[in-house]
Amino acid sequence: MDIHEYQAKEILARFGVPVPRGGLAYSPEQAGYRARELGGSAWVVKAQIHSGGRGAAGGVKLCRSEDEVREFASTLFGRQLVTKQTDANGKGVYRVWVEGASDIAQELYLGFVLDRTSERIMIVASAHGGMEIEDLAATDPASLQRMTIDPAVGLSEFQARELAFALGLKAGQVAQMVTILRACYRAYRDLDATMVEINPLVITGTGELVALDAKMSFDTNALFRRPEIHELRDRSQEDPRESTAGDYGLAYVGLEGDIGCIINGAGLAMATMDMIKLAGGEPANFLDIGGGASPERVVRAFRTVLADRNVAVILVNIFAGINRCDWVAEGVVQAYREVGLTLPVVVRLAGTNVEEGKRILEGSGLPLITADTLAEAADKAVAARAKLAA
Ligand code: GDP
Ligand code: MN
Repeated sequence: MDIHEYQAKEILARFGVPVPRGGLAYSPEQAGYRARELGGSAWVVKAQIHSGGRGAAGGVKLCRSEDEVREFASTLFGRQLVTKQTDANGKGVYRVWVEGASDIAQELYLGFVLDRTSERIMIVASAHGGMEIEDLAATDPASLQRMTIDPAVGLSEFQARELAFALGLKAGQVAQMVTILRACYRAYRDLDATMVEINPLVITGTGELVALDAKMSFDTNALFRRPEIHELRDRSQEDPRESTAGDYGLAYVGLEGDIGCIINGAGLAMATMDMIKLAGGEPANFLDIGGGASPERVVRAFRTVLADRNVAVILVNIFAGINRCDWVAEGVVQAYREVGLTLPVVVRLAGTNVEEGKRILEGSGLPLITADTLAEAADKAVAARAKLAA
């Protein structure tokens, strides 16, 4: 689960990371008040969306008057901001962060991620920050410093100092960097984060280290024990298709194609998506209905897939081990009636109670397209799609 920049800054500040003073606004007027409250003569106004790359997309601006703050904020509110990291729809701006502008002498990059190979938290840092880590890795890989942390020891002071020196920091900044590194590590570990990123971490004209941007993601499986983090969830930033599926307890990922998939098991779902592509089609989604899917659950899966207006054909592929084909078949028939389906539906059932499942489908009198193998199902779904287009 992602959170907003201002929330990440608030959390990191609690652990000891220096951040600029700022305030949140829900309207252009409020943004103006925030600037006045903060004082000074220059402010940075920043769209709060769950995405980086806002600067390049026009979501961040340095403003020199209260009027300018208000005016820029009014162009942000309600806008769908499209960045390099979002899809073509972008993310809606409903909150704006106003902070006192910093005087930047140097921009650094600092990230904490989970390194699956070493099974440890890894720090990635560079003295050349500001740009995205992917671009940094492409254009200046030699500047990247990496360090893994032993969970039994934690991030020791000497290790943090070593990293600070490797980044070329001057004596006066090394102690600040050590504080920041250890604070980020504690925040990461104590709050079940999966990612902490400060980009840029700047050195100001007077030699202070300050986090100008902050990003945190959290392990959704640990949210049950982090209610204070769970509260920060902002549904306006989520793909509505995925939010609804999550409420139903379905594992769903929205994609760009038009063949809607209802599958059991993550592996089979991935394989089915591959087969659709191989047959020349594009899947509209990944969806795993899980084991022991009741007819009601199958109906919910249909509703979830149909909420995507691009879907033109539905492919149901069930290999029933824990599941029962007759239940799934009943779910398909029920969905047809309840939802008032008009799209072609291809169904492939295999495993427990498959004969009973097939009988239910045939006996329903519904115009279902059936298949015996995965390849046949994918071919038939793509053919049904082509027939619609013709
Ligand atoms: P992102 O593009 O979504 O990662 O948003 P950032 O918070 O990183 O802001 C983008 C860029 O705006 C930064 O890399 C800075 O160069 C610039 N920026 C942000 N805050 C300030 C500030 O206080 N002063 C100045 N001069 N530039 C800033
Ligand atoms: Mn940034």
